[in-house]
Amino acid sequence: MNNTNKEFDVCIIGAGLAGGVLAAYLGKNGKKVAVVEKMMIEQDGIIGELLQPGGVEKLCDMELEHLVEGIDAQKVKGYGLFLGKERIQLNYPQNAAKVYEGRGFRYGKFISSIRNYIQSLENVTLIEGTVTDFIEDDQHIYGLKYKDKKTGEEQYIHAPLTVACDGAFSFFRQKLSDATHTINSYFLGLVLKNPQLPYPDHGHVILCDSGPVLAYPIATGECRMLISFPETNMPKKSPELIAYLKNELAKELPEEILPSYMDAVDEGKFKVMPAQYVPAQPKLKKGAVLLGDSLNMRHPLTGGGMTVALTDIHSLGRLLLQIDMNNEKALFDTVHEYYEKHHSNNATVNILADALYGVVQDPQLKVACFEYLKKGENYYKEPISLLSAVNRERTTLLKHFFSVAFFGVNDNIKFPTPSNVGKAFNMVKHALEILNPLMLNENPDMVTKGALKVTEGALKVTNTVTKTANSFTDKVSENANMIKRNAKKITSKVLD
Ligand SMILES: Cc1cc2nc3c(=O)[nH]c(=O)nc-3n(C[C@H](O)[C@H](O)[C@H](O)COP(=O)(O)OP(=O)(O)OC[C@H]3O[C@@H](n4cnc5c(N)ncnc54)[C@H](O)[C@@H]3O)c2cc1C
Repeated sequence: MNNTNKEFDVCIIGAGLAGGVLAAYLGKNGKKVAVVEKMMIEQDGIIGELLQPGGVEKLCDMELEHLVEGIDAQKVKGYGLFLGKERIQLNYPQNAAKVYEGRGFRYGKFISSIRNYIQSLENVTLIEGTVTDFIEDDQHIYGLKYKDKKTGEEQYIHAPLTVACDGAFSFFRQKLSDATHTINSYFLGLVLKNPQLPYPDHGHVILCDSGPVLAYPIATGECRMLISFPETNMPKKSPELIAYLKNELAKELPEEILPSYMDAVDEGKFKVMPAQYVPAQPKLKKGAVLLGDSLNMRHPLTGGGMTVALTDIHSLGRLLLQIDMNNEKALFDTVHEYYEKHHSNNATVNILADALYGVVQDPQLKVACFEYLKKGENYYKEPISLLSAVNRERTTLLKHFFSVAFFGVNDNIKFPTPSNVGKAFNMVKHALEILNPLMLNENPDMVTKGALKVTEGALKVTNTVTKTANSFTDKVSENANMIKRNAKKITSKVLD
């Protein structure tokens, strides 16, 4: 197969967020782009509905902020965090020059806005069809094959670069990456109509016993609610599920939203999506690259997916605009550089998402995290800047992650009984177990690798101390039980 007859500089698989915005950025800056999308009808899904301020910034950097206009997008100014009867408000960062804001919207509407825009660009050709394979040999990918929706015929597109943006259930991921995917949990989605939100214009994270519940505005008078279920328990519509939502979960939700929540449960329009973890582990092959969920996925808890994709589009797009697309070496080097930058730009967003999910699933760390953020602006300011993705410093993330764990330790060893010491060590151990693999999957530099070695050592020591504390606790309670039994015997003898 050769690579003649090049009509396009880039061909893209999928016109979702990643493929659509990449086409927009490259197309409006003079590259010739073909995009093949299998489903042009507007979807009514539960993914991608809160764009963090860091993602809004990326759209602005590419001069594409108009894509979130005219879709009834709602301004989001921060978060409300709930635990039991307590609640705290965490506003997004602001300074003299800027107030950072996110946007809540219907993903389908956002994607339609992107597709309408690229169809208006002279340099972009949007085709409805299903991509069936790459055009490739062992060394190189030369373009793609697709089945045209209208004619049903197989067609070919040749281009120096093929970008696979085929989303969460990507077929092309396996061809360009060594990553395997893991399902961490499921999200059940509902739409609350005209809810009374405790913090209007804010996202809401409710830390329930069974897992986190999220709520954020997505249109005028509409709020998305996502309810987390563990990976062992994929929710299916049934009388048991409805009873659980109405009788159990409802008790843990803020009172204000209960009427609209009960209505949404009665309406029963449930949608379920898995929360997947896919680390970015691309294999380099000439002429092709992965972008968006096909490259990398993290837990949706922090709403980071679109921000990561937009960051990558800006990074890859800028590099591509600087090179001659027919210079094979320059193109190969560009793809390599883009993958390197993917980690340095997005590691914090990725690590935070899965680390925070790990924290809120651990009853002790969850309380420690809430109490830590409750201490005031000096404590929550940097964590919220990480969550909003306007701050991407790994050191800031590590600082606060361990501060939360040690804050919990301090609380436990105020009364240093063996059991409390054991709990404290367990907490640090679990924190390290959550963080280490996530860090390792983000292409750590030498310094971070060194730090991870130290934490691995700490983990071993912690394990030993925990075991000792646990066995000491067991011994103490064994002895206590023996004393109790003997006391009982003596009492009954005396009574006899
Ligand atoms: C429950 C849940 C909630 C989430 N909430 C948020 C959130 O609030 N904020 C946030 O930032 N992120 C969120 N995310 C993540 C976010 O939705 C994704 O990161 C983002 O949508 C990825 O965009 P994409 O373009 O890679 O994939 P998609 O938008 O899924 O696009 C893939 C496109 O490829 C097309 N396609 C697939 N195969 C082919 C083929 N063979 N031929 C042609 N076309 C094809 C599909 O039809 C689709 O249009 C959430 C994820 C989940 C699971």
